[in-house]
Amino acid sequence: MEKVKIAIIHNKTPLSLKVMSELSQKLIASGHEINQTEPELVISVGGDGTLLSAFHLFNHKLDQVRFLGVHTGHLGFYTDWRDYELDELVASLNTKQEASVRYPLLDVRITYRNGKEPKHFLSLNESTIKRNDSTMVADIYIKDEFFERFRGDGLSIATPTGSTAYNKSIGGAVLHPRINAIQLTEIASLNNRVFRTLGSPMVIGSHEWIEVRLQESDECVITIDQFRLQQDEIDSIYYKIADENIQFASYRHTHFWRRVRDAFIGES
Ligand code: NAP
Ligand code: MN
Repeated sequence: MEKVKIAIIHNKTPLSLKVMSELSQKLIASGHEINQTEPELVISVGGDGTLLSAFHLFNHKLDQVRFLGVHTGHLGFYTDWRDYELDELVASLNTKQEASVRYPLLDVRITYRNGKEPKHFLSLNESTIKRNDSTMVADIYIKDEFFERFRGDGLSIATPTGSTAYNKSIGGAVLHPRINAIQLTEIASLNNRVFRTLGSPMVIGSHEWIEVRLQESDECVITIDQFRLQQDEIDSIYYKIADENIQFASYRHTHFWRRVRDAFIGES
C-alpha cells in the first residue's frame, strides 16, 4: 500500500467535525499522512460549498491534487461518499485501483481600461457579472466575432458541474458533466422592439471563447463561485474552458440523471 498525503477540509457542523476526526484517525491508522499544505488528495467533508472552498484552496496545484467529497448533509453534486461509509472510503484508497474522473473548469480573464494588470481566475461552478446599480450593458463576442448587445441584470457562465447550481436557478440547462463545454446564461435580459438578445442559454465548445465587453466603466460585481469582487474600469472579460481540470479520486459512479432527479424532484 502506498502512503498518501491527505488534507481534510470541512465545514463547522457538529456532524462534519465528528466525521473529520473519525476519518483522520482511520487514515492515520492505515498508514496515510495528514498534510494540510502539500496534499496529494484533498477530502472535503460537508456540502458542495465545502468542496468549492477546498477547490479554491488548492487550485494552484490542480495537476498534483485529487479531490474527494464526503457529504454530511443532503446528497451533493460534488460529494460521492456518505458519512457512514468511512471504512469503505479508506479501503478504496488502500486497494489503489481507484477510479478517477476529470471535469472541465471555467477560465476567467479580466482586462482593465487603465492599464492595470489583467486578473485570472478558475471557477468550478460559475462566474457571474452584474452591474452594481443600473442596467448592465455589454457587447458579447464569440470567438472574436460580435454576437449581440446585452442589456439586463447580468450574465452567468457555468461549467457542466456548475450547471445544477446558480445556472439552473436562472433557467440554464443541466449539462452532463462529461460534456466539455461552458454555458452562457442571461440574467433578466431586456427584450422589446428596441433591444434584442438571443434570450436562451448558449452552450459553447472547447474551440471557442466568449468575450464580454462592457459598455461603460462603471462598477461591476464579478463572482467566481462563492467569491465576490467589486471591480471598476473593466474593459473585457474572457471566458473559456480552462486548460486545467479538476480530478476526483475514488469516484463512484452515480447515475447523473438519477442524482439530478433525487436533488430536484425527490427521491423515488
Ligand atoms: P450557498 O449559498 O451555501 O449555496 C447555495 C446552494 O447551492 C447550496 O445548497 C449548495 O449546496 C448548492 N450548490 C453549490 N454547488 C452546486 C452544484 N454544483 N450543483 C448543485 N448545487 C450546488 O453557497 P456555497 O455553498 O458557497 O456555494 C456557492 C454556489 O452557490 C455558487 O457557485 C452558486 O452556484 C450557488 N448559488 C446559487 C444561487 C441560486 O441558485 N439562486 C444563489 C447564490 C449562489 P450545499 O448546501 O451542499 O453547499
Ligand atoms: Mn453551502
